[in-house]
Amino acid sequence: MLRIGLTGGIGSGKSTISAIFEELGAPVIDTDAIAREVVAPGEPALAEICRSLGHDLLRPDGSLDRAALRRRVFRDDARRRRLEAITHPAIDARMRQRLATLPEHTAYVLLVIPLLLEAGWQDRVDRILLVDCPETVQVQRVVSRDGIEPEEAWRMVRSQASRDARRQAADDVIDNDGSLERAELTARVQRLDRRYRGAAD
Ligand code: ADP
Repeated sequence: MLRIGLTGGIGSGKSTISAIFEELGAPVIDTDAIAREVVAPGEPALAEICRSLGHDLLRPDGSLDRAALRRRVFRDDARRRRLEAITHPAIDARMRQRLATLPEHTAYVLLVIPLLLEAGWQDRVDRILLVDCPETVQVQRVVSRDGIEPEEAWRMVRSQASRDARRQAADDVIDNDGSLERAELTARVQRLDRRYRGAAD
């Protein structure tokens, strides 16, 4: 089974593209969704985060205060690394579990991994598919999608791998700067889908 790692910066269009792959019947494993699952109440990673970074990160209902966590690791590399040392192995384990449950003759699987480069997970995938767009477009989209200030969006964009680094690591690129009509975007995904199925054969 071919493992395709779909990556790209925040707001580049990963969810949009992975939804099109799903419509074409490709199995998709989304590590962003898994990242939320592994810190749900009762999960060992949540208890570890509290031990390592503070029990006050829990809300009264026992769920993780994600905004408080972001503030606590913001601009503190040592804390951020401690957090990642807890969450990344938990995400990795669950991703492998999901992979193991796919039907035997699955041609390829799309692994959505936003921080593929930042986490150094290149070896988890056979090919890297990048969704790319200019940073100004990323910021515009995130501001309108999440209702945050442009400065905050820029901070998030700048904290991630650079566009150059991503483009260098990518095997395939979908340019999603917004100039393509939805039908063209779908056609681009269809061509990749056919290629990945062919390569798996
Ligand atoms: P990511 O998952 O990479 O953070 P999304 O797929 O959520 O990005 O896209 C960010 C926002 O931009 C969403 O609101 C989405 O609907 C919008 N968007 C993505 N691609 C396009 C496009 N080609 N044209 C217009 N809007 C787009």
